[in-house]
Amino acid sequence: MTGQDRAAGRDGRYDYLIVGAGFAGSILAERLASQHGARVLLIDRRPHIGGNAYDEKNEAGILYHRYGPHIFHTNSDQVVDYLSQFTQWRPYEHRVLAVVRGRQVPIPINRTTLNELFGLDLKTDAEAAAYLASRAEPVDEIKTSEDVVVNAVGRELYELFFQGYTRKQWGLDPSELDKSVTARIPTRTNTDDRYFTDTFQAMPRDGYTAMFQRMLDHPRIEVRTGVDFRDVREGVAADHIIYTGPIDEYFEFRFGKLPYRSLKFDHKTLDEELHQPVGTVNYPSPDVPYTRISEYKHLTGQQAPVTTITYEYPSAEGDPYYPIPRAENQELFKRYETLADETEGVTFVGRLATYRYYNMDQIVGQALATFRKIDEKRERAKPSAVAAE
Ligand code: FAD
Ligand code: UDP
Repeated sequence: MTGQDRAAGRDGRYDYLIVGAGFAGSILAERLASQHGARVLLIDRRPHIGGNAYDEKNEAGILYHRYGPHIFHTNSDQVVDYLSQFTQWRPYEHRVLAVVRGRQVPIPINRTTLNELFGLDLKTDAEAAAYLASRAEPVDEIKTSEDVVVNAVGRELYELFFQGYTRKQWGLDPSELDKSVTARIPTRTNTDDRYFTDTFQAMPRDGYTAMFQRMLDHPRIEVRTGVDFRDVREGVAADHIIYTGPIDEYFEFRFGKLPYRSLKFDHKTLDEELHQPVGTVNYPSPDVPYTRISEYKHLTGQQAPVTTITYEYPSAEGDPYYPIPRAENQELFKRYETLADETEGVTFVGRLATYRYYNMDQIVGQALATFRKIDEKRERAKPSAVAAE
């Protein structure tokens, strides 16, 4: 077990019960225990810490991610400084190829993609920009995930790279999804083939789970895995709850189910040193049932004669992984959020509880901001020097 066997006070009470040991829950546990001396009980219904970022060595000794490939990238110094207390880093820039018309070409679409796919010889940014402009179909008001792409690259490239992938990933056509989803993927006129351009791109040197273990190794943090909030919510005595699970579940689906998208992961270990040229290969074709294959040795730099890959099969059923960004879901979320705001003694934080399609670094930022709010409230509640006289 990470953390203490028993962190409750002598009266059996905790200051905080934190639900979910992913980034949001673990960071708040660490901050509250180390900065406020709070007694924290951190639970997760899964048999491990780390949430969706959990990694472990499989039987072949390959470090893989149980819930699909997690690549860390951020522009925030604050986030890097915070996490660097618990891990060293291995520089890693993620690259992705998409299988289109039988070729593997860079995604995000860049000048190389255009040249390889259409047999062109575009030499400069200006030439690539002019070419894209000749294909683009300008959209007056960009609202949907279809608009974003068609406006930038036109319908043919949209259909080849985005429509099939998005329909598989979300079970919805891009025209039914908020523009923010495909806007995650830029279009480039240069030959930069990195998936991300953030200032900091690196993997935790010993993996995510090791980083979480260090974060939670504190005498005032008690970690209990394999424990569902629903089974302990009446039994645990805590002054405050921090909840990082699905918000609709907390309120017993009072207004109906909030849609989340799930995935099935098929992990395979192959008797070859490397399986594919880059960390992830995307399969946008509707004829292929999975969306992408990722190979961990690219991410981790691990040397071994065998390799582990993961296929991602999108699914409506299963663990909630992605909030689904579209107006009607946001409206339903807002009703739950109003209820959450009115609920005394509970703080909702994290990707599932705030229904936001956030990357890891954004969740770290959100958790640190939540701690600052708790901290300011505590400072305000302290009797002032004048009042104390
Ligand atoms: P989670 O990690 O989901 O943690 C919430 C925890 O709460 C879970 O462990 C859950 O078991 C627990 N829980 C829920 N309900 C209960 C309950 N009732 N009782 C007890 N425990 C409960 N981000 C990136 O930055 N880069 C990437 O490359 C990247 N790749 C991703 C790939 C996939 C396939 C997915 C799904 C996500 C990816 N992300 C990536 C996003 C990243 O996973 C999230 O931003 C981050 O893990 C969110 O942290 P969290 O603490 O909010 O939630
Ligand atoms: N996308 C796509 N084709 C691709 C890559 C991405 O259509 O080759 C779209 C798809 O809708 C996807 C979204 O862009 O869900 C965001 O992609 P990202 O790789 O950021 O997804 P994540 O890693 O969060 O699953």
